[in-house]
Amino acid sequence: MEYFNPGDLNEAYEILMKYGDAAIPVAGSTFFMGHREELFDEVDAVVNIKRLGLSYIRLEKGRLCIGATTTLAELHRTGLTAKGPFRIFAETVRELKIMEVRNAATIGGEVCIAGEVDMPTTLLAYDADIVIGSRNGTRTVSMSEFHKGYLKNALQTGEMVIEVQVPEPGRRTGGGFAKFERTAADLPIVNAAVRLTLGRGDRCSDARVAVGAATVSGIPQRADAAEKVLLDGTLDDERIRKAAAASNSIECVNDFRASAELRTLWVECAVEDAIRKALTHAGEEK
Ligand SMILES: Cc1cc2nc3c(=O)[nH]c(=O)nc-3n(C[C@H](O)[C@H](O)[C@H](O)COP(=O)(O)OP(=O)(O)OC[C@H]3O[C@@H](n4cnc5c(N)ncnc54)[C@H](O)[C@@H]3O)c2cc1C
Repeated sequence: MEYFNPGDLNEAYEILMKYGDAAIPVAGSTFFMGHREELFDEVDAVVNIKRLGLSYIRLEKGRLCIGATTTLAELHRTGLTAKGPFRIFAETVRELKIMEVRNAATIGGEVCIAGEVDMPTTLLAYDADIVIGSRNGTRTVSMSEFHKGYLKNALQTGEMVIEVQVPEPGRRTGGGFAKFERTAADLPIVNAAVRLTLGRGDRCSDARVAVGAATVSGIPQRADAAEKVLLDGTLDDERIRKAAAASNSIECVNDFRASAELRTLWVECAVEDAIRKALTHAGEEK
């Protein structure tokens, strides 16, 4: 296995193209190091992408643009997520209690794994786009089309994720995130992210409910049935509980961390919690 440490994007693209499917980009390496022998034993070239100028967070034309190697800690620290429409990103990071991981793990790494991680669930609820780069230029794929299964995504040979973009939500929109894990040092067993917009008479005019870490598909999924219950109604206790109960249409995985039955129950609890947080935040936004 050879290690490369390119200093600009073009150099990185050349290496990725030269080694083809035997090359992988690494960023925080928190996943790569833990799964090196089990998943990456056929890799010939490891390309460190931390020196390519992809660590930034900025607002551009109404979109929050997050460079792929931005760490979760940076996303938590920036003023752009401290309050206002993007606060859910800081709140999602806050639920990851291990500071060493927060300081190293990157948004690009989270997006590429998509399984037992938190950020992709929030990105799905916020209709994010993934910007992909290669020697041939850039292309953009929506978050809902990026993931194909656990560790499977839309990236083709020679490509890597270079940026994540989140459209600024409309007025009176709020988000909520909730999760369950065995211990603070463990991966999530269930997580849920909700985005709600309030319209006339405080009726819900737009809703996204995303569930992750628990699904049989291994990737975050929209809970369409829960969204339908929320849409166009007043969000009283009864409707919130009904929507949370409707999220049991998500098929949950059964593994050593938790049974499918327990996960289904926790999905309902996490969705209810996330809806309540989103509703509070939506009420605070002008
Ligand atoms: C003990 C522990 C607990 C954790 N708990 C949580 C948690 O509760 N919630 C949470 O969200 N996360 C958690 N994490 C982090 C999470 O599991 C991953 O380790 C992290 O998201 C990976 O990010 P990274 O930048 O380190 O990726 P890396 O390890 O560098 O890479 C991971 C994979 O993504 C690919 N990749 C990385 N960046 C790119 C890119 N830009 N383009 C293309 N491919 C790329 C790599 O090739 C590799 O296949 C935890 C990690 C540990 C070790």
